[in-house]
Amino acid sequence: MTVTVRFAPSPTGNIHIGNARTALFNWLFARKNGGRFVQRFDDTDQARSKQEFADQILYDLHWLGIFPDKVDHQSRRFERYQAAVERLKAAGLLYPCYETPDELELKRKIRLSRKLPPIYGREALALGDEDRAALEAEGRKPHWRFLLPNYQRDPSETQRTDISWNDIVRGEETVDLASLSDPVLIRADGTYLYTLPSVVDDIEMGITHVIRGDDHVTNTGVQIALFKALGADAPAFGHHNLLTAASGEGLSKRSGALSIASLREDGIEPMAIASLAVLTGTSENIEPVPSMGDLAEKFDPAAASRSAAKFDPADLVHLNRALLQTMPFTAVRDRLVAFGVGGERAEAFWLAVRGNLDRLSDAARWWEVVSKDYRPDVPFAEADAAFLADAFALLPDEPWNGETWKAWTSAVKDKTGRKGKALFRPLRLALTGLESGPELSDLLPLLGREETLARRP
Ligand code: GLU
Repeated sequence: MTVTVRFAPSPTGNIHIGNARTALFNWLFARKNGGRFVQRFDDTDQARSKQEFADQILYDLHWLGIFPDKVDHQSRRFERYQAAVERLKAAGLLYPCYETPDELELKRKIRLSRKLPPIYGREALALGDEDRAALEAEGRKPHWRFLLPNYQRDPSETQRTDISWNDIVRGEETVDLASLSDPVLIRADGTYLYTLPSVVDDIEMGITHVIRGDDHVTNTGVQIALFKALGADAPAFGHHNLLTAASGEGLSKRSGALSIASLREDGIEPMAIASLAVLTGTSENIEPVPSMGDLAEKFDPAAASRSAAKFDPADLVHLNRALLQTMPFTAVRDRLVAFGVGGERAEAFWLAVRGNLDRLSDAARWWEVVSKDYRPDVPFAEADAAFLADAFALLPDEPWNGETWKAWTSAVKDKTGRKGKALFRPLRLALTGLESGPELSDLLPLLGREETLARRP
């Protein structure tokens, strides 16, 4: 069976780096196993879900380097969920309940005071047709619970029922179904909770591996039971640890600054985000990985630890800098055009400045520094001015190359007796107006003799 995974966010906001971790775990898993990636939008909550968010999520995934084989929306599949509901009802596995939240809370307290586990006591199973008619005549609408298979004959006598799976990330996991309330699958207003639509889709879309955050571990016992109730084999499951900020606080759709869109606007490279999102909280070092193929080679879901994956957003800038430092010109040529960088000097320029960038957009500043009309206006003390006059008089003839700077500065050193900082600082200031920057041996051929001479103070 072809490995098939899915990434299933609700399109109720922008995705952040923590969601990207889930998407990437799935994408890399599919990639390693020659599998397929289904993009599923869990948009049964039609009031909060928006097509703009779904579009934005797809855009963000593409930008990160994730290209779904298929895109689907739960809001287009309600009749499939209805069909599953009918089957569960016919099998007596979905039953109507009428308690209000206050009544449920009271029942919970009573059970706790009797030292019973605070789970739903299945009182609604005892209701007859007349009781239900009377409750509905009061204006109550039923919500529907799935009868968990945690009893032998009598549902009111539950017994320990372990559901186990070999988690791709966490290893052996077990949930005792007798420790859980029968889950509500349909609310009183007729809307679905996520549990049933997700299982129906996983079955019908041929999902073989469900990889998601460890906040879903307890859902898995229920969902495995639901797969069985619907006559299907459960897929394999993997639950990865969640990314949390250094403060220990979890990320939410409201973590605006860490949304993929805002990181992109801030000039963070997709592979910086992917490297951090995937490698944090694993046994691998966090390092800049240049391509998705390289990241797939490093990726091992079982390397993720069980504790929270704490990360420092500042690491994104370090990773970004490191990625840019070795990025080939072909990878940035088109994007540099947006900063005005083009023409025959573009490649040499890129190789000269890429080690000095926090963000690609910083290239614009260096392009200005090597542009023809840039005139650094630095006031020099008399001694430095005299030194520079001597130095510029010694500029070699063209053609210039990577050796020209060395040849020139050796001649200047011989003539003036200056060396080290006293030699290099005034030259750098005269040529760039700045204290530091790319290697002058790279910048000099970019400027050319005429332009260099024009910068003589
Ligand atoms: N829509 C669910 C979520 O975003 C999907 C969980 C799952 O992958 O099963 O939490």
